[in-house]
Amino acid sequence: MRVLVVEDEVRLADALRRGLQEEGFVVDVAASGPAGLELARHGGYDAMILDVMLPGLSGYRVVRQLRAEQNWLPVLILSAKDGEYDQADGLDCGADDYLTKPFSYVVLLARLRALLRRGAPQRPAVLTAGDLSLDPARRRVTRADAEVALTAREYALLEYLMRRAGEVVSKIELLDHVWDASVDTAPNAVEVYIGYLRRKVGRERLETVRGAGYRLVP
Ligand code: CA
Repeated sequence: MRVLVVEDEVRLADALRRGLQEEGFVVDVAASGPAGLELARHGGYDAMILDVMLPGLSGYRVVRQLRAEQNWLPVLILSAKDGEYDQADGLDCGADDYLTKPFSYVVLLARLRALLRRGAPQRPAVLTAGDLSLDPARRRVTRADAEVALTAREYALLEYLMRRAGEVVSKIELLDHVWDASVDTAPNAVEVYIGYLRRKVGRERLETVRGAGYRLVP
């Protein structure tokens, strides 16, 4: 198993490298956010141990960038911070697990092994299309970095279309997945809600494919 350690504290990085090598891992170490990101993109690793406070690019931003590039390398975040908020932050950015410094090496090893057993999950942390971004963990939508306020139904419709970005999705399929089939739904509900969404996320983002349905432009 090949593990990438991204840590700028030299002594900790060396200790992790030696410890993991003794356990039979192949270990590479990067000492900055950009160097870690570059190796993670091209290195063929099975997991990454990633510090948060790094020169150049924070650990959170490294994970966000990888996930935005559809890279699902399992990531264990190491942070000197603690508290629930920071932990949620770490996991929301797309990391798979989180450990607070100072940590026990035995616990780190156990978490790393659990991560390797689970393998890379196929779930995007944040969905994006052009300047539009939807974060399922926070149920938050932004357009050009400005928050877009959506009703629950608008959000559900947008999430469904973003998960199928580039594909034509029929009205029937949208009714099935976004509306509760047991409730009477007006026949034109999809058109009406597509209209609401267009006003909020941009007309050009949601194409009507005549006679077939709708397509979210990726
Ligand atoms: Ca650090």
